[in-house]
Amino acid sequence: MKVVTVIGNRPQFVKAAAVSGPLRAEHDEVLVHTGQHYDDELSTIFVTELGVPRPEVQLGLGGGTNSDQTARMLAALDGLLAEQQPDAVLVYGDTNSTLAGGLAAAQRRIPVAHVEAGMRSFDRAMPEELNRVLTDHLADLLLVSSEGAAANLAREGVAGDVEVVGDVMVDVAVLLAPRARADDEPLHAAGVTAGEYLLVTAHRAGNVDDPARLEALVGLLLSLREPVVLPLHPRTRARLEAAGLLDRLAAGAVLLPPLGYLAFTSLLTRARAVLTDSGGVQKEAYLAGVPCVTLRDSTEWVETVDAGWNVLVDLDASAAAAALGRPAPAERPELYGDGHAAQRVVTAMTRLAEL
Ligand code: UDP
Repeated sequence: MKVVTVIGNRPQFVKAAAVSGPLRAEHDEVLVHTGQHYDDELSTIFVTELGVPRPEVQLGLGGGTNSDQTARMLAALDGLLAEQQPDAVLVYGDTNSTLAGGLAAAQRRIPVAHVEAGMRSFDRAMPEELNRVLTDHLADLLLVSSEGAAANLAREGVAGDVEVVGDVMVDVAVLLAPRARADDEPLHAAGVTAGEYLLVTAHRAGNVDDPARLEALVGLLLSLREPVVLPLHPRTRARLEAAGLLDRLAAGAVLLPPLGYLAFTSLLTRARAVLTDSGGVQKEAYLAGVPCVTLRDSTEWVETVDAGWNVLVDLDASAAAAALGRPAPAERPELYGDGHAAQRVVTAMTRLAEL
């Protein structure tokens, strides 16, 4: 079977790191990088570090509004699928690349497999939520991370086949967290001690594109009593600079460039707590047993909140302080699979070819 896989941003490189190896052991894969994230720190570093195959096709389609970017990707992928004639298209998560890949394939009647299907924040103001819902309703095979995601899809009555396979980012975390945890270098470089700092990431449009929200975010981070380490996403850095807030934040937090997966995981696994608006990082904090404070008022990773390891505070500084004061729960059940999701994805895709 020939599979075209469409990726475009940082978490999709991490997901491809889990799946491309086992997929290529059984099938032919053409990996397409749309260029949604074009900075090396957000893409090519994962090729060298995580062994993601070098994408066979680079579309270089970053920039623009969500609609403009999705439209350009859709047009380019339509031509590419006509040329490649794959038996299936594989997409991950909830980005413009996910929706464009899924829709371009569905229009050509090529079966679509969606990994990390069924996640819902129920917040239609998030571009990611629109991408998730639409991709799920055009996919033929919906591979989900949790029972909760499967229940969301059952409620919506999606047309494709739903299978709980576990989360492919868990596969990568299970494999690499021990090595990352043993590496002290990222902590030395940031000047922090294990268990005595807060690791922060923030880059959601809803938090950084609106200057008033961005200022509230900076205020919240500067109000924290423990040392803050913040690897800055290029989008966030650009918005901070434009708003004249970068120096104020730099005076009270250790600002780093975006990190490779191992350095980031080293800092994550040894943090006292994590504050983030990232989806993937909420899940990784849970896996590492590090309490998470989510800088949003909704999450698609609801199980981490129900389990008591994640608290939604939006940009409320006193709610963040209260959340950070809570003791960690005693229990941490396995919510997102056993670290073998990628092989289940490949097995399910093999069945898709036989349909
Ligand atoms: N990550 C990384 N370096 C960083 C910050 C995050 O490698 O400096 C990894 C993180 O471990 C996770 C993924 O990037 O696997 C999350 O990506 P991001 O927060 O950009 O996306 P989201 O999950 O919010 O869509």
